[in-house]
Amino acid sequence: MKLDSKSVMEGLDKMYPNPKCELEYETPFQLLVAVILSAQCTDKRVNMVTDELFKTCKTPEDFVKISQEELENKIHSCGFYHNKAKSIKSASADIIERFGGKVPEKFDDLLTLAGVGRKTANVMLSEAFSGDAIAVDTHVLKVSNRLGIVKTESPYECEMKLQKFFPKDKWSKLHYQMVLFGRYTCKAQKPECENCIFSAQCPSSKVGVPTAEKEKKMKVCSKIAKNSK
Ligand code: SF4
Repeated sequence: MKLDSKSVMEGLDKMYPNPKCELEYETPFQLLVAVILSAQCTDKRVNMVTDELFKTCKTPEDFVKISQEELENKIHSCGFYHNKAKSIKSASADIIERFGGKVPEKFDDLLTLAGVGRKTANVMLSEAFSGDAIAVDTHVLKVSNRLGIVKTESPYECEMKLQKFFPKDKWSKLHYQMVLFGRYTCKAQKPECENCIFSAQCPSSKVGVPTAEKEKKMKVCSKIAKNSK
């Protein structure tokens, strides 16, 4: 039997009844910095970096004042430090000049900031501004494909499909549940199908006799995970 939205939500609710963002921050601006830093990096690493960074740089003004070189040194271990530092400094300047020093709360305005794509804007909406948004990162894309909800490598197409598949008031919660599920159970290279609540219905489950179709699906999902590293 195919998994419907109700079964997926019930399963995720059992595993993660109260999911939350694993990035640590005190203000919407700090969350924005942390989300930019989290691209191709673990939340754990970002938290280690921001724990030090936010002691001296807390506001957009602080990030405009700090030199590109000094910022790169502080965020070096997050990877892609040159572009991330540039994006953070540019977004900070924009926030001061165009939005009065506050992170904008509208999706379209968020997208105009350097380093902010749909995923980051959706995280900001749901986490910082209590909006309904479903951000598609590598975990959400992978899990959605494996569960058979979508069949695409495009985060945008996945987002559109998930918006139709799940009720709007559940989007934000589902984002975090799918991230946690993808991070700790439905892992990129070695999904723990034997411990998975969806194993009986999941079209990609490794439990039982693997079919050619399942093998093919797992290869596509592994490719998605690899490409998004
Ligand atoms: S059964 Fe396996 S592939 Fe399917 S969702 Fe669970 S862990 Fe992922």
